[in-house]
Amino acid sequence: MNKKDPVKKMAELLKLGATMLAETCPVKGCNLPLFKLPSGEIICPVHGKVYMVKTEEEAVEVTEKITIKNTLDKVENKILEILNDLINQTIPEPTELITWLDALERVRRIKKLIREKETK
Ligand SMILES: [Zn+2]
Repeated sequence: MNKKDPVKKMAELLKLGATMLAETCPVKGCNLPLFKLPSGEIICPVHGKVYMVKTEEEAVEVTEKITIKNTLDKVENKILEILNDLINQTIPEPTELITWLDALERVRRIKKLIREKETK
């Protein structure tokens, strides 16, 4: 997620020729105004590319997808942290290392699957 100041990002978007829309970001708790780039892409200053949806069902689906992605990112970071801690121990437990490496691989595989689905 972009941790940049959203106001700064909004100014940047406007400089790029984006127009501010009446719609707000569909991500739960965000509510920032959306911007339309000259290329037609819809951008949230914090969440980046946003998918405009027509129905409530579609909205739920998109929100879910973004939530899953954010969760996976968090899980991935946590696993890397744990692995780092384990490696820094004088005598790391090999089975524990393998368990966490397995978990990391799984998270990355799911992320890849989601990405592939999107580009289709
Ligand atoms: Zn947003």
